[in-house]
Amino acid sequence: MSKIFPRNCHAATPTAQRGEGVYLIDAEGKYYLDGSGGAAVSCLGHSDESVIAAVRDQVESLAFAHSGFFTTDPAEALAERLIAHAPAGIDRVYVVSGGSEAVEAALKLARQFMIEKGEDKRTRFIARRQSYHGNTLGALGTGGNMWRRAPFDPLMVSASHIDPCYEYRLRRPDESPHDYALRAADALEEELLRVGPETVIGFIAEPVVGATAGAVPAMPGYFKRIREICDRYGILLILDEIMCGMGRTGKLFACEEDGISPDIITIAKGLGAGYQPIGAMLCSGAIYDAIANGSGFFQHGHTYLGHPVACAAANAVLSRLLDDGLVERSAQMGKTLQAALEAEFGEHPHVGDIRGRGMFRGLEFVADRASKEPFSPERAIAAKLKKAAFANGLICYPMSGTIDGQHGDHVLLAPPFIITDDQIGELVSKLSASLDAVL
Ligand code: PMP
Repeated sequence: MSKIFPRNCHAATPTAQRGEGVYLIDAEGKYYLDGSGGAAVSCLGHSDESVIAAVRDQVESLAFAHSGFFTTDPAEALAERLIAHAPAGIDRVYVVSGGSEAVEAALKLARQFMIEKGEDKRTRFIARRQSYHGNTLGALGTGGNMWRRAPFDPLMVSASHIDPCYEYRLRRPDESPHDYALRAADALEEELLRVGPETVIGFIAEPVVGATAGAVPAMPGYFKRIREICDRYGILLILDEIMCGMGRTGKLFACEEDGISPDIITIAKGLGAGYQPIGAMLCSGAIYDAIANGSGFFQHGHTYLGHPVACAAANAVLSRLLDDGLVERSAQMGKTLQAALEAEFGEHPHVGDIRGRGMFRGLEFVADRASKEPFSPERAIAAKLKKAAFANGLICYPMSGTIDGQHGDHVLLAPPFIITDDQIGELVSKLSASLDAVL
């Protein structure tokens, strides 16, 4: 009997024993096509020899050195490489062990930056409904998923929420995409004016929404307007690329597509590709300088900051992404995946939207395509689809996102970038059979 504290105490889970390319294999020898890379983690599949070798070599030479005493070659190399490819102005890297830790560091750095500038009345954040930034208390406090927050609400950081940029649900029929993008962004200014702009530290959002709605990209022009508003009111723009970064959307950083530079970016998941737990918070030189020339000390830290083995894994991952053309492959195979999904589900009466960028794709299920009416929550379509797909040997990530309490059923697809045309065919046909079984 397992003594692991599971995610769901009522669900039995098989034992994963091996990984082979895009497949995971359990103790019974059953193969599962990893159609969601776990949760958009495994961008290189499960048996990448160069990353495995990098991890092995690093453990043998230096397993750990505490960042309070040392920096290390793998940490320095990682920071240099990330900055060389990061949006303009990003100049420092803070390496942690996962996504939530990266968001906590971002929130605390943003607050400390305001204090260093003498703006200590700034104590709150603005985020978006239906968002997820992690499960630690700070990250959860900015997240806009009310179900996840509810029991912990009394413990939260101060944050309020605006609607996401969500064309399928929120663009009015008489509105051009451009007008909608600007209206969605202007909600930030309205919220700033409502709460008092002088009290706000920053705005946090995912360039392409992942964990709560299944790959919803912001529309062209949205983030440019967001950037302008942040600058007008002196608040920081924090982009959470924990799920959508590291090539997942076909660019190393998803915000490249939006043509803007944030003040802070968080990354994780694909950075270690599952070979090591690692995340990072990247910030502008201006933020770093304010602290370096002020108190000189970021009042934060964890035991495993800049862990050498995790950094070595991430360096090997970046080599695969950048030197072996896997970011471009994500862009190109993402188009193949989108085309295959459209061919299979384009006319499906219960598939309302097929969307995303690169190897980051989502389907939204509806009871009625014309009215876009969602399925009732009791039918638990997304949860049942996950179960049916798993039985059919396909891993896909279900979501039941809500805006203002409205239920929605989505599935996120985020396969490894090494997936082949044939394996995309297998993914789509297994998904289709599973959906038939559920409906
Ligand atoms: N932000 C986003 C956008 C995420 O998708 C996630 C994880 N799903 C997190 C933060 C939290 O990352 P972690 O689970 O590694 O703490």
